[in-house]
Amino acid sequence: MSLDEEKRSKARERYQRWKLNNPGRETENRRRWRAANPEKHAANHQRYAAAHPEKIKEKWQRHQAAHPEKCAARARKYAAKNPEKVRAALRAYFSTPEGKIARRNGEARRRHRMKSTDVSATTKEVANILAAASSCQYCERPFSEMLPPTLDHIKPLSKGGGHEVTNLAVACRPCNSSKGARDLSAFAPGANVSVVAVGQFT
Ligand SMILES: [Zn+2]
Repeated sequence: MSLDEEKRSKARERYQRWKLNNPGRETENRRRWRAANPEKHAANHQRYAAAHPEKIKEKWQRHQAAHPEKCAARARKYAAKNPEKVRAALRAYFSTPEGKIARRNGEARRRHRMKSTDVSATTKEVANILAAASSCQYCERPFSEMLPPTLDHIKPLSKGGGHEVTNLAVACRPCNSSKGARDLSAFAPGANVSVVAVGQFT
């Protein structure tokens, strides 16, 4: 260890000791420094955010989980002020693979919420279900680019079925549209719902 490194490491130790002996002071000092140096703080933050995008994302996710109402209020305020920016951001998100699932899932959750108090399947659950499916649960044809998986409500939402994992099947589009809003028993008499339900293979 060079002399310089030794000095630095000693200084670090001193600082850690001071921090332990003066709880709260460090936060207070940082706050004061930030207030006195807003541009420097912004530049530091931008540099850190550019280097650690995943840390920033995690931090926001933690903050959102801890303060959902605050965050929703802030988002509403921002959206009211920047409607075209929000529209553009949503358009961009809804064209991503996850965004496409989120849009369809959001619609299903809204429809479901209106008539049920059950917990509806989350976007993450739906994405996992779709990713895990390799073939249509009705006709058993393997999925491919030409035959992509679609989500089917075994008991249709219009018939009071829930948007929940145990009522979801992954079907090819031809099966999904020919089943339409029929119950499974009308579409495929004799089919065993408990075998078809996604809950069975996830
Ligand atoms: Zn099929």
